[in-house]
Amino acid sequence: MSTDVDDGRDRAAELASPEAGQFGVPVDAICVGCGRIRVKRADPDEIGQASDVDPTDLKVSACTSFKHVCHRCGSATWWNPVAILTGLLEREQEGGE
Ligand SMILES: [Zn+2]
Repeated sequence: MSTDVDDGRDRAAELASPEAGQFGVPVDAICVGCGRIRVKRADPDEIGQASDVDPTDLKVSACTSFKHVCHRCGSATWWNPVAILTGLLEREQEGGE
């Protein structure tokens, strides 16, 4: 979890919520509509990466924005990835919560 910033957010809980989506790589992303940052799952495809990419190799600077529902905006909007949450991913792959 060394790459995750301690800013009081519970990213594991955000990732577990239906709002994050069901498939894809956990990323911190900022909604272009309202500017809030939430954990979302992004398909590597959706963010301009090869679908078989190793998520731990992803560089957020290479990722494109992707469409996802924003509940505050009340519709699907564009989100810009700001961080790849590999810490959460590793936890998931280990079968943790
Ligand atoms: Zn929004």
